[in-house]
Amino acid sequence: MVARTVSLLLNRNMGILKPKIVVVPLGDVDFMLVNRLATDIGPVFNCSVDILKGMKMPVEAQNVIRDQYYAIVILSKLERVKANSREKVIGVCEEDLYLPDENSILGYADILSGTAVVSLFQLRHEFYGLPEDEAKVYPRLYKEAMHQTAHLFNLSECRNPKCVNYYSQLMLDIDNKGGKFCDICRRQLTGHI
Ligand SMILES: [Zn+2]
Repeated sequence: MVARTVSLLLNRNMGILKPKIVVVPLGDVDFMLVNRLATDIGPVFNCSVDILKGMKMPVEAQNVIRDQYYAIVILSKLERVKANSREKVIGVCEEDLYLPDENSILGYADILSGTAVVSLFQLRHEFYGLPEDEAKVYPRLYKEAMHQTAHLFNLSECRNPKCVNYYSQLMLDIDNKGGKFCDICRRQLTGHI
């Protein structure tokens, strides 16, 4: 009886300690895509997922001259929605993002604050002046979100071009890589969740 009580307590504590992913639709973003992402990403990281109703794109992050948003300011806003330190918050937006030393980025993650943001701006075909191929947008969003979320689970970038955690600068690299972690990344991930 005593042993059973201990094991129940352990289970309860493990449940409390388990990380949770919080997905935040930012601004006027395609909610269907975000919802689909939230559904798909949880099982991969063995986490429950909450999806927030949404948050406005922070005005403070907007650079009117560049017509872009500063990713670090967005992450600082996302950090405020965290209910506790074990939550990993991922924002998804349509707007183009930048960092001081990067013209335009697909996404950005900060391990210390446990926050990440992914932009659909470049993932859409129309960015290249081509007709938009909706079927390609979601897999790209999924792969980029997986890659950024992997950072939040302490994984560094992978050198395997087929791994979803491969650092992809070109859209071709994203399209060519798979949607799953390679064996090395999966083993590292298992050590963190
Ligand atoms: Zn890998």
